[in-house]
Amino acid sequence: MFILQTIRKDFPALSQQVYGKPLIYFDNAATTHKPAPVIALVNEMNSFINGNIHRAFHCLGTMCTERYEEARETVRAFLHASSVEEIVFTAGTTAAINTVAFSFGERFVHAGDDIVITEAEHHSNIVPWQLLCERKGALLKVLPVNHDGSLPVEQLPRLLSKRTKLLCVTQASNVLGVMNPVKDIVAAAHACGVPVLVDGAQGAVHGGIDVQDAGCDFYVFSGHKLYGPTGTGVLYGRQELLDEMPPWQGGGEMIAAVSFEKTTYAGLPLKFEAGTPNFIGVCGLKKAIDYVQELGWAQVREQEETLVRHATRRLQEIEGLQLYGAAQPKTSLLSFNIAGIHPTDAAQLLDKMGIAARSGHLCADPLMRRFNVQGMLRFSFSFYNTTEEIDTAVDALKKIKQLLSCQ
Ligand code: PMP
Repeated sequence: MFILQTIRKDFPALSQQVYGKPLIYFDNAATTHKPAPVIALVNEMNSFINGNIHRAFHCLGTMCTERYEEARETVRAFLHASSVEEIVFTAGTTAAINTVAFSFGERFVHAGDDIVITEAEHHSNIVPWQLLCERKGALLKVLPVNHDGSLPVEQLPRLLSKRTKLLCVTQASNVLGVMNPVKDIVAAAHACGVPVLVDGAQGAVHGGIDVQDAGCDFYVFSGHKLYGPTGTGVLYGRQELLDEMPPWQGGGEMIAAVSFEKTTYAGLPLKFEAGTPNFIGVCGLKKAIDYVQELGWAQVREQEETLVRHATRRLQEIEGLQLYGAAQPKTSLLSFNIAGIHPTDAAQLLDKMGIAARSGHLCADPLMRRFNVQGMLRFSFSFYNTTEEIDTAVDALKKIKQLLSCQ
């Protein structure tokens, strides 16, 4: 049962004060707070159940290995991947994208090839591809964004060619909140023989994806945006591709046998998990996924939709406020500007009123240029936020507007 006040009690961070004001946390797209069961599990493992995985045969090592591999199964089921071999744990979305950019790039990308991304990408889904293109003498091509924040999917066949080695697209923009039609995009790319990487950093927290139904070749996300510990993340890759890709990092546990003459590598997924992974964090991520699944994705989505509807209506009371990304469907974030007010000034004043909002380029410089602004202000909601918090924040914005307009 989804009882908001009970759920809020699960998140200790939500009951604190900042600058003597009750915290209103609207920066959930950057990172979410952790529920008590996740915190308790991580504390318990750090306190008592800490043994390095996949190597020690003692009790603690075995317990950690079992829990870590249970977490892999939980993530497999969450993404509906066909096997646990396709689930690689990483330090986050950025680490997962860089793994693919290096490893897939080494194997499949050559001089004169191209990689296609979109104008709606976070820097994490731009820069690794630029680095790859520089290394290989390949070209980076960009699918533009429509004014309403949607992608012109119909332009894809013209943009993709025999030289296109990969299409990289976000499931949902961290600036516009627009959810892209991933299944259609994958179908259009596959029709041209191009595999697709989907950045699920903003999508996983709204229910994830069925990777088999969507048909994507890679899917990546971060644990800390999904109520799990920082320093955890997931790379899903189709087994045929992962099998062909060389390891990115070398070290313990990614090997079959090592000699000075020749080293052979472990099978999937350990080939991509060199060194001691953040195994306690990964167990925390499993707990976080279990927690949201127990709440129920449908209820979570419903509460988030209520919040976005309410915030959209209330924000529009503010004269001169412009919202970006009108296309539907959207996740639970709203980015906007108020005429004559610098977004960072507004965010700093909001902060002093106890309201955590995000401002600036939002790690998406190209999108700022696309909308001809230096920055935006962003409210991003979680199911644990309330309409009352939105009312307080809108009133605060009205006061800030008055204050800054008088100067
Ligand atoms: N992609 C998108 C769409 C994001 O929103 C973010 C985080 N803001 C990232 C990638 C990078 O995630 P992380 O910093 O957790 O690696």
